Amino acid sequence: MGKPILGIIGGGQLGSMLSTAAKEIDVKTVIYCDDIDAPAQNFANEFIYGKYNDEEKINEFVSKVDVVTFEFENIPYETLNKISHNKKVLPKPKINKIVQNRLFEKDFVNNINIRTTSYVAVKNDSDLKSSTELLPGILKTCTLGYDGKGQFKINSEKDLNNLNVDFNKEYILEKQVKLKKEISVIVTRFSHQKYEIYEPIENIHEDQILKYSKIPADISEKLFHKSMDWATLIAEELEYIGTLCVEYFIDKNDNLYLNEIAPRVHNSGHLTINSHNISQFENHVRAVCGLEKIETKKLYNAKMINLIGEDISFYRNKKFNENEFFYDYLKNEIKEKRKMGHLTIITK
Ligand code: ADP
Ligand code: MG
Repeated sequence: MGKPILGIIGGGQLGSMLSTAAKEIDVKTVIYCDDIDAPAQNFANEFIYGKYNDEEKINEFVSKVDVVTFEFENIPYETLNKISHNKKVLPKPKINKIVQNRLFEKDFVNNINIRTTSYVAVKNDSDLKSSTELLPGILKTCTLGYDGKGQFKINSEKDLNNLNVDFNKEYILEKQVKLKKEISVIVTRFSHQKYEIYEPIENIHEDQILKYSKIPADISEKLFHKSMDWATLIAEELEYIGTLCVEYFIDKNDNLYLNEIAPRVHNSGHLTINSHNISQFENHVRAVCGLEKIETKKLYNAKMINLIGEDISFYRNKKFNENEFFYDYLKNEIKEKRKMGHLTIITK
């Protein structure tokens, strides 16, 4: 029997890197994306352009593949659920429903005794005005936020008067954590108690966008283990299949808090392409396609730099050393704050 054909919803750089990893192990990919210029079409075997609610196009896509996964979590639940009546969708659509919503997500992890910062649901102005004990805090839309989009920093009660918030949406107010560090843990779950897990990655954000990642993370042994234990607990509780990333905060007193779960491959894991024998992308493809699980080992330490907006121009003309790996996402337009590529540097 041949290997399954993998359908990937979403055509950004994560879709590109999934397709590249798939190709290396002879798995064919079909990308479905609502952006006609989706960069992943340069890396996949086939590309279908269509809206996420276009039933006819989705059916065409589904007919061409054996299993469906996605590279971003904000695909309408209805779409994923409908597909799952015909073909396997992994990770399961119901997981998306939890993780798509910051409130459901935080309730879920607190229920399994994983700590988050204090938070409250905010539906209107008076909810907000009665939650001032959480200030300084960050007001976030419950759904559809990424790279800091849909977030409002609220330092004190005074700021509440100048807020321009659209209460047609639902929000969550989070107490601001006094950050010492941010880390993430990436785990790929294959089946019950069967995992490959990467060591914690240390992350630096600029303007709420990831800028640098590195391994090893400079953290205590206790947090090293705790962050990995929590990530596997989450994957197990969700009966997750595929690669998942957990983002954490560490405060000045070395307390660990879960920030958010990404039910997909993650930007902080790009360095695993070069640092490990099996990348987060290959592990994802292996898990969702039901292929062999291979023991994942670190070969090198590494750091990754995200090339955002105009950063890319300099690197497109640069010469690289043997230990430097440059990735150009081949996006057709340079935009401010847009992730255009990345550079990974490995070291012994
Ligand atoms: P996104 O979905 O946009 O990645 P996050 O909730 O991860 O949203 O927020 C982006 C970044 O903003 C975080 O990585 C962190 O640097 C900062 N941030 C968000 N929430 C908090 C918080 N409660 N306390 C401190 N920093 C925060
Ligand atoms: Mg985040």
